[in-house]
Amino acid sequence: MKNIDILKKLKESYDNLSDIILNSDYEIGSDNVEVLNNSLSTMSTLYENVWDKIKADSDEREELKTECKCPHCERKTVVSDLIDYSYLCTDCDENFYYCECIKENNMEL
Ligand SMILES: [Zn+2]
Repeated sequence: MKNIDILKKLKESYDNLSDIILNSDYEIGSDNVEVLNNSLSTMSTLYENVWDKIKADSDEREELKTECKCPHCERKTVVSDLIDYSYLCTDCDENFYYCECIKENNMEL
């Protein structure tokens, strides 16, 4: 599995697990919530380590590029270095969620 795929899978897992903890009607129990929150914390650390590895590799780095533009400077963003966010503008040094970015293609909702 490529590092960029690991990065995507970690984020998907993180988002799914967070969603279950925050929005589930099922009573998870405080002990279990603690274990799950520890898992989120581990995923976050792994994500940042994998991101650093990708960033350090000149070929893999290309795969961090996105079609999403920064709302401030309108330059293209890269995949965020933080698991909680989706996009990073390296020029403004700011992270964004999906909805904050200007889409290249306005057809996409
Ligand atoms: Zn910017």
